[in-house]
Amino acid sequence: MPIELKSLSQSSLQDYNDCPRRFELRYFQHLAYPAIETEPALENEKHQREGEYFHRLVQQYFIGLPEEQIAKLANTENLKRWWDHFINNKGLTELKKLPTLRTEITLSAPLGPFRLVAKYDLIASDGGKFHIYDWKTYRKRPKSEFLAARWQTRVYRALLVQAGAFLNNGKPIQPEQVEMTYWFSDFPNDPAKFPYQADQFKRDWDALLRIADEIQSASDYPKTEDTNRCLYCPYRSYCNRGVRAGDALDAELETEAEEMFNINFEQIGEIEF
Ligand code: SF4
Repeated sequence: MPIELKSLSQSSLQDYNDCPRRFELRYFQHLAYPAIETEPALENEKHQREGEYFHRLVQQYFIGLPEEQIAKLANTENLKRWWDHFINNKGLTELKKLPTLRTEITLSAPLGPFRLVAKYDLIASDGGKFHIYDWKTYRKRPKSEFLAARWQTRVYRALLVQAGAFLNNGKPIQPEQVEMTYWFSDFPNDPAKFPYQADQFKRDWDALLRIADEIQSASDYPKTEDTNRCLYCPYRSYCNRGVRAGDALDAELETEAEEMFNINFEQIGEIEF
C-alpha cells in the first residue's frame, strides 16, 4: 500500500467496495476526473452545484440565520422547491429547539492503520437520542434496502458510537441511542430512517477493521467485474471500459463527490486511545 493514504471515509470505502481499481486511481494516484461522469453533463453539474448550495442554506438555518433571509438565497427553481419542502417540514425545523445541534461536523477515530473520517450534515440530540441527518437532493428516491447496505449508512452510525462521546458529556453513546435519517428534498414526506442496535454496530465495526486491513495489505487493485459500474465511472478511459457516459439519474447515487478534501481537521472530534 502506498504510505501516503492515512484516512478512509464512506466514499473511499464505497469506491473500494464497488471497484478496487477506482479506489486505487482516485486515492493512490489522485487522478483528476478524465471523463464526464454522466450525460447530460451540464445539467448534471448544475444539479450537483444546487445540491451543495442547498446544504449551505440548511446549515445557515440551523446556525440561526433568519428564514426570510435564507429564502431569498434560494434563487433557482430547484432551490426554491427544496427550500419550501424543508421549511414546511415541522419535523425538521423543530430540531432547531434541541439542545445539541451540530451542523457540518466531522468525526474521526482510529481504524487499524488509518483514521476513519466522516462529515455529517447534522447531528441533533435531546440528550437521549442522537439523530444523524443527511440531506439528499436526488432526483430519484433510492430504495431503503439499497441505502441500508451503503457504507455511508454503516460508517456514520458506527463512527458516532465510536467517536461521539464528547457530544454526550463524555459518556459513550450507545448504538440504541443512534438513528440516521436521509431526507430527500424532492420526496420530503418519504425519508429513510435507520435505527441502530449493538449487534449492528459490532458487525459494522468488525467489517470496517477487516476492510482496513485488506486495503493495507492489498498488492493489487483489480477492475470490477460488473461493467455496469463503469458506465458512470470517471475513469472509463483509463480502463478501456467505454467513452460514452451513462445516464445521470441512474448514476446519481453512485457518484457523490468525495468530501474528505473539504474537511477541516481542526474541527474533528475524536476519541483518544
Ligand atoms: S471504469 Fe470500471 S473498472 Fe475502471 S475504475 Fe471505473 S469502475 Fe473500475
